Amino acid sequence: MSDLIVGIDLGTTNSLIAFSDGHGSRIIASPQGLKSLPSVVHVDPVTGALEVGASALGRAVERPMETIYSVKRLMGKSLDEVRGELPFVPYRIVAHTPQDGPSAEGVAGIAAVQVGRFRLTPQEISAAILAELKRWAEAHFHQPITKAVLTVPAYFDDAQRQATRHAASIAGLEVIRIVNEPTAAALAYGLDRAAGSADATIAVYDFGGGTFDVSILRVEKGVFRVLATCGNTHLGGDDMDRQLMLLLQGDIRKQFGSAIEFDPSTQQALRNFSESVKLTLSQATSAAVEIDLGQGRLYQASFTREGYENLIAEIIGKTLDCCATALMEAQLGPGGVERVVMVGGATFIPAVRRAVGRFFNAEVYTAIDPMQTVALGAAVQGSILGGKKRNALLLDIVPLSLGIETAGGAVTKLIGKGSNIPCHAETLFTTFVDGQSNVKIHILQGERELVKDCRSLGQFILGGLPPMPAGIPRIAISLLVDASGILSVSAKEERSGASASIQVIPSHGLNPKEVTRMIKEGLEHRPDDLLEHWLIDLHNQIRLDTSAIEKALASVGDQVEVAYRQELVGLIQALREMLEWNDTEKIARALHFMNQKSTHLAELAIAKALREA
Ligand code: ADP
Ligand code: MG
Repeated sequence: MSDLIVGIDLGTTNSLIAFSDGHGSRIIASPQGLKSLPSVVHVDPVTGALEVGASALGRAVERPMETIYSVKRLMGKSLDEVRGELPFVPYRIVAHTPQDGPSAEGVAGIAAVQVGRFRLTPQEISAAILAELKRWAEAHFHQPITKAVLTVPAYFDDAQRQATRHAASIAGLEVIRIVNEPTAAALAYGLDRAAGSADATIAVYDFGGGTFDVSILRVEKGVFRVLATCGNTHLGGDDMDRQLMLLLQGDIRKQFGSAIEFDPSTQQALRNFSESVKLTLSQATSAAVEIDLGQGRLYQASFTREGYENLIAEIIGKTLDCCATALMEAQLGPGGVERVVMVGGATFIPAVRRAVGRFFNAEVYTAIDPMQTVALGAAVQGSILGGKKRNALLLDIVPLSLGIETAGGAVTKLIGKGSNIPCHAETLFTTFVDGQSNVKIHILQGERELVKDCRSLGQFILGGLPPMPAGIPRIAISLLVDASGILSVSAKEERSGASASIQVIPSHGLNPKEVTRMIKEGLEHRPDDLLEHWLIDLHNQIRLDTSAIEKALASVGDQVEVAYRQELVGLIQALREMLEWNDTEKIARALHFMNQKSTHLAELAIAKALREA
């Protein structure tokens, strides 16, 4: 294991480290369990000591002049080139002179950061971030980590790439390769070897904290080429936060008087509130804030997703302008891109996903956490360069069956093992409880019949169902495995139009041995499994039938003879007792008997319902 090559995403806002063993990549967490490191370094003005990550970020409010963030923007640039950055940051940016030391590689005039009497180059700041990530990996693997694949934006020039390499070497890391971030993102999705047509045109839309860029890639025989890239180094999630912050400030002044002052720490608090509203609205359709402004002034406000989308529409529009430019530069028409990979925290925002999908009119990939995609892809590149054989699963067929959880913990298989990729399946589901307003869709993989024996791939909630009796909603569930082996599951209730979806990668973390084992176990347990599945179905049927008859009795019970009514009530009770049984044959016979017995009552109930309708 001495040749561990990790992948590192040295980001403007957050940095991550990942590792791949050929069966899939995973993020390496800090010993405290953190999966990403804020790219922030605090420099002690007296001792020059460096503090990295969340704790440094925590100092930004109190010590803005000493807390260095977004240093990636300064990498490999001269002071002249970064004059535009000066208004954006509170810390001092100066020109580095050769006398300042060897770390600037003797380049005079390179931009550096000055904190007290300490002058640090962007390479040194970045090195502190890289060294922290390196420590995380070393704690994880209990061995020194010295080799890494690093990513940089596609638009980075030679000097910027060189500076990145230099930062790594200061941190004690040998850079095995520098990879473009969009290429890494495509690698994370395995787009270099999609089934069917191996050649494809891909857009990578990367919307981070402070920067946006889009790249158009062409993959041919597993090799990526950047056709075009377009970006804005001052457009990102932070701008959305600033927008909302301005709105909050205006609102607060309206409410508490225009004289109210916003000191730096209040401003930071407002910024944090703004970000949390944004994060909440990526999940929920509304978010509330409550800010204690002191002196008994409590500010309260709530925001809807729709309102927030209006607020950020212009920002999203700017990214689409960039996409148009990139397409033009790549000499492609509007339909020229087959897939879009979403990267960066801001692509969690539903409106961003929608707008990008509409713009490119192409499949939008979100299966991998967009904040982790680049690091995971860098790890894939590391494992390739380390000579690791890549997971042989992502081929032309679905290795294990795919299905959905149904009531009682059974799995309904919708796409069978061995199906050719791409493939598609659809089915209609309904609810099990009266007035159910949301339904959990749980996606599973494997050859067994029960949820507990299958691999869970993910789940989501279809919410917003109008109240309807059990069994009435028509929920269309569709599963689509595309040429890259990515599974999109969507659910739509036909009457209300409520819909929700999720993307997952079924082959992630699955190795050929495990597949063989799962198939073998499926075969071994088949007879028992089928019986158990049948039993669950029968129990479900008991619940449905008995409650249907109870409803019918309540509705038209007065139209039938007392003896008949009593017989049915007795049958209901007997059937319910069978929920404790596991003799499938007997239960099936009892259900059949009940069915025949209740036909008359059911007919009366239907007739009444029709009359009323
Ligand atoms: P970078 O590549 O610049 O380091 P990231 O990809 O880490 O940036 O993205 C950071 C940005 O993503 C921040 O502005 C953060 O607020 C935003 N973000 C993170 N999670 C979400 C979310 N669930 N919804 C909306 N924005 C998010
Ligand atoms: Mg990034």
